[in-house]
Amino acid sequence: MSAANRPRHAPMDQFGTESGELVIGGLGVQRLSTRIGGTPFYAYDRGLLSGRIDALRAALPRGLQLHYAVKANPMPAVVDLLAQHVDGMDIASAGELAVALNAGVAPANISFAGPGKRDEELIQAIASGVRLHAESLGELERIGRIQRDTGWPARIALRINPDFELKSAGMRMGGGAKPFGIDVEALPTALELVRRHALKWEGLHIFAGSQNLKAEAIVEAQQLSWQLVLAHLEQLPPGTRSINLGGGFGIPYFPGEKHLDLAPIAKNLAQIQDQAAQALPGAKIEIELGRYLTGSAGVYVCRVVERKSSRGKIFLITDGGMHHHLPASGNFGQVLRKNYPVAIANRMEANLPLETVTITGPLCTPLDVLADQVELPRADVGDFVAVFQSGAYGASASPQAFLGHPEVREALV
Ligand SMILES: *Cc1c(COP(=O)(O)O)cnc(C)c1O
Repeated sequence: MSAANRPRHAPMDQFGTESGELVIGGLGVQRLSTRIGGTPFYAYDRGLLSGRIDALRAALPRGLQLHYAVKANPMPAVVDLLAQHVDGMDIASAGELAVALNAGVAPANISFAGPGKRDEELIQAIASGVRLHAESLGELERIGRIQRDTGWPARIALRINPDFELKSAGMRMGGGAKPFGIDVEALPTALELVRRHALKWEGLHIFAGSQNLKAEAIVEAQQLSWQLVLAHLEQLPPGTRSINLGGGFGIPYFPGEKHLDLAPIAKNLAQIQDQAAQALPGAKIEIELGRYLTGSAGVYVCRVVERKSSRGKIFLITDGGMHHHLPASGNFGQVLRKNYPVAIANRMEANLPLETVTITGPLCTPLDVLADQVELPRADVGDFVAVFQSGAYGASASPQAFLGHPEVREALV
């Protein structure tokens, strides 16, 4: 394939440049690096984070509840900032519970999903007053017992494992046999447990999968989820307050991928809201997003430690790699490794002479690749490598202890 026809990355024009340097949070990359204490680091741009949510809000129907899935980026400063912009937070551990509560999110607006919640986590969550998304019949029994023992009311929603799958999702988390959610066939039994234990009924949660760039597939999954709710309307206890239809909004990581078109999704959600106003008055429609909110606002920056050529191939070896950024190395749920968008962050001028290089990290494993055979301006030792689309599933999703290199720094700027 000729270079001109090769699929390209979506333009990473959310960040500006100045005097040939990438600018993050108003600072050029060299100054930012010094201010942070050196590479490798993740930097998240405040303006981009809040601007992203404002734009999303403007595109989505009014009254839709927007939740942030903390697992995408649990850095406390990021969660603090997002807490001011979203309607609620979804957590998946007692650790994330603490981060959300410390960010000042009202317990009424926190929901706790996760397939293997320990008793201690359930007790903490019930004491905090957050909503539990039960994922199995056994968990419902344990929640019932804890409510009885403590005397504190347990707010409950049921996460349903639907009988459909989200098409074209990066990671599928619904349909078929799954550890997540209660099979829809078992919903009557689960509702019976909610009644028997007198749990405080709040609603249903259906999450079909993640990282979807096809609007029509997301619309279809949200429609199927809503139809599932309608089909069980008669069986639900009174007082349903919340229907969480999942999320799955993707962002473009790889060459050829395009930004998600929100318009059809917004239109469909507005229709669902209208129907919900009739069918379940008092219930709010929620969506839960992680990477869509934080992914594009973050960059991972490392520095070239060695430049070497081996049998005709040029390698830039950096001080950062898969131990900080597992997804960029291709080892986080990818079947075929593809390159994240990268740049030489202190050589951003147009029209610099280009060369084809492979960027690897310092780890003694062939898995530690940040970019394979990419065209970049000629770079040398000391230059900065930026990996875009790194604001989600970065630091907290990577094996930092592997090989004993320093931990990555994180800054919200
Ligand atoms: C991981 C997860 C999310 C967030 O997924 P993103 O792809 O980051 O938007 C939302 N809901 C649930 C239940 C999850 O497990």
